[in-house]
Amino acid sequence: MTELSKILRRQIEATGPITLADYMSACLLHPKHGYYTTQDALGVDGDFTTAPEISQMFGELIGLCVAQSWMDQGAPDRFALVELGPGRGTLIADILRSTVQVTGFHAAVDLHLVEASARMRSLQAAALPAYHPTWHDTVETLPEDIPIFVMANEFFDALPIRQFQRDPKGWREIMVGLSETGVLQRGLSDAAPIEALNSRLDDTPPGALVETCAHGTAVVDALARRIATQGGMALFIDYGGWHSDGDTFQAVRAHRPVDPFAEPGQADLTAHVDFEALARAALIAGCAASQLTNQGVFLERLGITPRAQSLAKGLTGEPLAAHVAAHRRLTHPDEMGSLFKVLGLYPVNESPPPGLDP
Ligand code: SAH
Repeated sequence: MTELSKILRRQIEATGPITLADYMSACLLHPKHGYYTTQDALGVDGDFTTAPEISQMFGELIGLCVAQSWMDQGAPDRFALVELGPGRGTLIADILRSTVQVTGFHAAVDLHLVEASARMRSLQAAALPAYHPTWHDTVETLPEDIPIFVMANEFFDALPIRQFQRDPKGWREIMVGLSETGVLQRGLSDAAPIEALNSRLDDTPPGALVETCAHGTAVVDALARRIATQGGMALFIDYGGWHSDGDTFQAVRAHRPVDPFAEPGQADLTAHVDFEALARAALIAGCAASQLTNQGVFLERLGITPRAQSLAKGLTGEPLAAHVAAHRRLTHPDEMGSLFKVLGLYPVNESPPPGLDP
């Protein structure tokens, strides 16, 4: 039994079942036993591989997208370049490297990283030796006086969700409790009406499951308020879809799905991102949201194929095969191309970031 499962068991014995959101928060970010606080999560040797770790092309194209948006908004002479959950810092390092030639861009950058894990912060510092980022625990402390240009890749999927099952009398919440033998397991709360889910009563039959992510919409609210008044934009890249529909809570360890309740703190826990909820939060805060665009389409529009061809010229043998495979992995509909989506936020009087304009 992991240390964290003992802690959670005692907590549930003392005060009763906890929400899935509380369970997820503890498993991912418990200061001593959480997954992101203790594990080397990312990369070939870790539990999962993300787009920036697959190929430098991902960050290079996002760099071009950000630089073009910055120019489209009049190349402000000071702006915050922000990443949420930067992992090993690979994406932000590639963005900075690919924009060195953009006149005035680097001189205007103020770098801000939102990262909860001290361990991840030290990896990010090592990836950015020439920069002096300001780290934040939350988006609430980001600058309120300059435009903010924000990136988030596989950040929202790590935020805690709650799950509700449709019942003739309203909704039952999926809770984490204990079996008779003291093992962590899922259970159901009593049924109750939930006002925030009224809009889902028409499109869900009894027994259907929906997920909510209050943390995610709060993050979007804080960013969208700033973008609407200070300028800038945001790119959210993640797996998920338009609308929450069904159970997407999952645990991954060493690139394989595992039982999310078996070893709390040892596996990565995620859920699909409900982009409709994020877009709605942005609109409520006075910001525009782009069409939800497949990652493959987004990268093609930004020119991944010519970039891949130009990089391929210097390669032969195994490195060439790996490069071709990475291009396919990022863009092909059978790989990350259509499971991963991109949502852009931008001020209502501006156009969507490049690659997101239909
Ligand atoms: N964007 C990176 C890493 C994705 S993993 C990449 O694409 O490779 C998720 C990242 O978000 C990790 O750095 C993790 O420590 C961080 N994170 C998770 N939950 C967070 C939270 N609530 N607040 C801030 N950072 C968080």
